[in-house]
Amino acid sequence: MAEGPLSLPDTNAAWFERARRVIPGGVDSPVRSFRAVGGRPYTVARGQGAYVVDVEGHRYVDMVQSYGAVLLGHANPVVTRAVSDAAASGTSFGAPTRGEVMLAEAICSKVPGCDQLRLVSSGTEAVMSAVRVARGFTGRDVVVKFDGCYHGHADTVLAGGGSGVATLGLPGSAGVPRSAVADTLVVPYNEVPVLGRDVACVLVEPVAANMGVVLPAPGFLEGLRRACDAVGALLVFDEVITGFRLHYGSASTWYGVQPDLWCFGKVIGGGLPLAAFGGRRDVLGVLAPDGPVYQAGTLAGNPVATAAGLAVLESVGPDDYEELSRRVAAFAHGLQDAASSAGLDVQVPLAGPLVGLFFATSPVRSYPDARDAAGNGLYASFFTEMIRRGVVLAPGPYEAMFPGMAHGDAELDVVLEAAASAARSLAAGRG
Ligand SMILES: *Cc1c(COP(=O)(O)O)cnc(C)c1O
Repeated sequence: MAEGPLSLPDTNAAWFERARRVIPGGVDSPVRSFRAVGGRPYTVARGQGAYVVDVEGHRYVDMVQSYGAVLLGHANPVVTRAVSDAAASGTSFGAPTRGEVMLAEAICSKVPGCDQLRLVSSGTEAVMSAVRVARGFTGRDVVVKFDGCYHGHADTVLAGGGSGVATLGLPGSAGVPRSAVADTLVVPYNEVPVLGRDVACVLVEPVAANMGVVLPAPGFLEGLRRACDAVGALLVFDEVITGFRLHYGSASTWYGVQPDLWCFGKVIGGGLPLAAFGGRRDVLGVLAPDGPVYQAGTLAGNPVATAAGLAVLESVGPDDYEELSRRVAAFAHGLQDAASSAGLDVQVPLAGPLVGLFFATSPVRSYPDARDAAGNGLYASFFTEMIRRGVVLAPGPYEAMFPGMAHGDAELDVVLEAAASAARSLAAGRG
């Protein structure tokens, strides 16, 4: 038997140990580390529909679904075939392909006001590029963002970030020079800020989904539109989560408020590295080669990723989303019931099939509310009880749940049964 790492047993513990030697913290994205919930991560061997299987053969109902990048369930045969067909014709060319045109058409046709878009490889890049376009178009520097919204990890927008930044309790990040955020204003979510004439853009998640799920208060998005128009600032919707997640289209049509620029990611890449920023034709006209704003990418519009994204968008229609939303609404009700039967107070915010969970007595409307709810530690205990019962949630209190097309009533019932039992266990432990 060989010495060294390869002789370690094929267990979650052994893989995590091995990972920690060569990958900082053992993970390629911090929230995966289980720091917020205790214990150590499972190492995924494979996924199938609503389920993931770890290297020890444990099978879990997966409510993470790659943080929303997977809509049709893992290893969906249509997506898998599209990916392997595309790969068989070459994986990257550095020249235009049909797939990027077709995916851009598919997205723009479903998002009124989004005349054009450019494909990139991550949501971070999409936001970074949209902000540069907004600054280039307006000739202004200031970016307004909201406390608890996450827009990827570019320097300018990491301040007051949700998701992993919130999970680890960071005010922003070390390594970001003061100069990089000198023109970033962080303001409270669900309050319309007063804008100066130096504002290039207001950047917002139309449904905040990186501090748990926080719905926009009535009038909030409309108010942002008016505030931007009043001073000539651009409104940017970061729809990396909401796009093609709430329904077959964007949050902008769902709420009837049209921004000037959009960022998309997650669902539109079918689980491969792909994202996009798009918007008004005149605004995007500032981009090179036609205009002076530079933006580029070796793997941008990658043919394997566009094939996966197209396969997803072509496999679903409005009815599929409506049915999923109905299933998830019943699930949300069930979750609420399971908790209250055990004597626990929870909030289960819902937008289409996007669903959150806060251990809180009243609705969560802002980042301070979300922090209060996360601070009681109940999420971590609930997470641990759920994974014991064969259900994986995101390993941090600031993430949404992502039931998708592969989560039928049967799979959601498994989650509800586990939740009822987990909630009783939590209540018993507290009492
Ligand atoms: C995930 C996310 C991003 C960042 O996307 P990456 O692909 O992880 O870089 C940006 N904005 C929002 C709203 C997100 O949820």
